[in-house]
Parts: sequence; structure tokens; C-alpha cells
Amino acid sequence: MHIKHHGAVNGVTGSCHELITSTDTSILIDCGLFQGEDAGTDLSIKFDISNVTALIVTHCHIDHVGRIPYLFATGFSGPIYTSIASASLLPLVIEDALKVGVTRDEKIINACLSLLNKRIIAIDFNTWFELPSNNQQTLKARLQRAGHILGSAYVEIDVPNKATTHRVVFSGDLGAPYTPLLPAPKPPYKADTLVIESTYGDKNHQGRKQRTQTLKKVIEQAVKDNGVVLIPAFSIGRTQELLYELEQLIHNASPHSPWHNIEVIVDSPMAANFTQQYRKFKTLWDKEAKQRLAKGRHPLNFESLHTVNSHKEHMAVINYLNKREKPAIILAASGMCTGGRIVNYLEAFLPAKTTDVIFVGYQGRGTLGREIQKYGSRGGYVFINNEKVYIKAKIHTISGYSAHADQKGLIRFVTGMQKKPSHIKLVHGDDRAKQLLAEKYREALGEGVKVEIAKLS
Ligand SMILES: [Zn+2]
Ligand SMILES: [Zn+2]
Repeated sequence: MHIKHHGAVNGVTGSCHELITSTDTSILIDCGLFQGEDAGTDLSIKFDISNVTALIVTHCHIDHVGRIPYLFATGFSGPIYTSIASASLLPLVIEDALKVGVTRDEKIINACLSLLNKRIIAIDFNTWFELPSNNQQTLKARLQRAGHILGSAYVEIDVPNKATTHRVVFSGDLGAPYTPLLPAPKPPYKADTLVIESTYGDKNHQGRKQRTQTLKKVIEQAVKDNGVVLIPAFSIGRTQELLYELEQLIHNASPHSPWHNIEVIVDSPMAANFTQQYRKFKTLWDKEAKQRLAKGRHPLNFESLHTVNSHKEHMAVINYLNKREKPAIILAASGMCTGGRIVNYLEAFLPAKTTDVIFVGYQGRGTLGREIQKYGSRGGYVFINNEKVYIKAKIHTISGYSAHADQKGLIRFVTGMQKKPSHIKLVHGDDRAKQLLAEKYREALGEGVKVEIAKLS
């Protein structure tokens, strides 16, 4: 048995790992798009897929699923296993990815989606299922909740090894303990080999109280000058978490507080779709969210929330915001500002002193988001649509809202196992994060454990 890595090795995007279980069988874990600095123009699948019998999808972020259409184009005809909620989200994500990045041709889009729908097999959490193999080998897998976004999972795969089995665990993206809405991931019982993400391998997040306070303070300051508050957010996950937090801040505000006067605009038809999915899968919410529901509150819906759908409406909102009399918070994708409607907002409002941009998620190297973080604080500029845009806006970063486990969480995921891995491979992180986390694992687990930074295959 060995593992090849076809992405998420030099950065956080393009997740795609291949578990080769024998000379004629392998399983793919995720097949994501490269973004930012990692992105190239040629997205086609370059590795040999002739032995690949199945794809397992850990979660529906585009950098974990975006190359599925290219996998089809290469001739992949196996099943796609994923959790029940992810099975429901996946076609929406792929449809959007095709429309934004590939084609507007309805025929091609529909053909791809119908293929996808035929291939998806929805799997319950915490339930073993058998994977197809090209030989007598029995391969079993199980999905466990990863607490990262709705439906997200880490994967355990048992590969026969003489009289025993070798358990390989792929972490996918792991959630932080206090991710709004979703319960924290529990470490697996055991792993022999572990492939783990390391996005925040070098950092620990602010505590929950602190981050809510920071968000509250930043927004209260930001709206004093009647400016626009822009929050770039993935349509799936982050947008819903922020709505959940905003509902709480509005709910707790005193009757005459400015909070009751702030408009919250979600400018993304996709985000609105996903919010519906989050509402549909309430059973996956954590205790606190369920308690709010039981009290008659609507954690993902409130009076001052507006959703923008059509492109026409989107352009109208930008116009309207230029002349508005009320403070407004805009949530729009993409989370790292690599495309999507947020880019139009940034182009329009970065040059205004009254604007505030709040980054709540990880900004990958080479993304517009990372550039704004870097140059915004020193009054610099960025290029948007080939135009130089000066940054007069105030730029804030709140790290506590990350949907990713921090260093402590990543260590706990391993030290919490009853039987610890003998081999750890680090993926999905910048160099520094991977190096620091590797050191921490070596310290915590001692000599006997091989800790390795994964390399591109
Ligand atoms: Zn993710
Ligand atoms: Zn990821």
C-alpha cells in the first residue's frame, strides 16, 4: 500500500490523494481545483486513472471537488462516495463551478450533472461500506464527521495486509472546536497511516468569546461612518456561520442599538441555496444551534437579511450602496476573492475610506485576498481586472472564525487516538505551517513515529 498526492501539497488547494492498495487498484480521496498561486490554466487530469475504482469526497469545497468534471473527461466511471448532506450539496457546487469556470452551455452542464447524479452514492456517517476493487482484496471505508462544513467527513479506510488490516485515515479538512453550527470533530479510534491537513499548523485561534467580541467591535466601529462592510466568504460554510453569529449579535443587542439598523446582504444565489441546505440538515447542527431553534429563533434567517440573486440585482445593489443612508454588511464569495461577486464590491469600495473589509477565513498565497491583507495595511494598492485599485479601506482579519482546526486541534486529533499512527503525512498547508506542525507531532509522539511532509507525486 502507498499514497500518491496529486494536489494540496505546495499549498492548501487542489486536494487529491490516491491510495494505492495493490498493483491494480487505487482509491481517490477528493479531486479539487487549484486556486491562487497554485492555479494553472490546464486543469485536465494528468495522472493515470486506469486503476482508480472509486472517488471518496470528504466535503464540497471547490478545492476538494472542482476537478470532478475533468475526472469524468478522463474516463473515470467509478462510484463517488460521500456523506448524505454532501451528496445533496455536490451537484450544486459542480454546477456553479462549471458555470463560473468552464462553460455556459446548458447541454454540457446538464450532461455532466446527470453523470454526477448517477455516480454519487450517499453514505451514513459512522458506517462501514465496501469499496470496489479490481481483485480479491476487500477494502472497507467509513466516514466520520469532520465539523468543517455541512456534510464534511474524514475517511477511514481498512486495507488488508497479510493477516491484519492497515488503517489509513484521511483527515479532509478538520473543523475548529467552536465552529458555529457544527459539532467539533472527534479523533478516530486509531490510524496506522494518517494523512492530515495542516492549514493552521503554526497558529492557534482566538477563543470563541474573543472572536465574537472582535467581530462586534469591528462592525460597530465600521458602521459609525455609514460605510460598507465587506466580508468575503465561501458560499458554503463560512456564510452560514457568519449569519449564525450575526443573528446572535442582533438578538442580544439592546432595543436602540445600531444593530437593528444594519442591513445584512448576502449577494450570492449559491450561498442562498446552501443556506437552504443547512436548514434542511438541521439534524447535523450542534446542541447550541438546536436550542436556539427550539426557542423559536431562526439562526440562519432574520428580518434585516436580504439575499441578492440575479446579476442585474447585484449591479443595482452596488449602485444603491453608493447612495445608501443605512449601514450595510455584505457577504459575498469567493472567500479568497479569487473571483465571484466580492471582486466587484472590492473594486468599487476599496478606494473609500469609509469601507471596512473583514477577512474571516484563510487567504491562500497569490490570492487577491492575501494581497489586500498584505498591502492594505500600508495604504498600498492591488490590481483588480487589470486596473490599479488603491486601498483606502480599513482591513481587518479575525482568525477565530476559521473553519479549520488550529495547531492545538490538529495535535489533539492525533493524541486523542487510542492507537496512534506510525506514519503521518502532512498536506494542505503552507511550508511553515507544515514544518512547525511536524515538529509538534515529533515532540508529542516520540521517535517511533515517521512524520513526513507530503510531496507531489
Ligand atoms: Zn474545506
Ligand atoms: Zn481544503
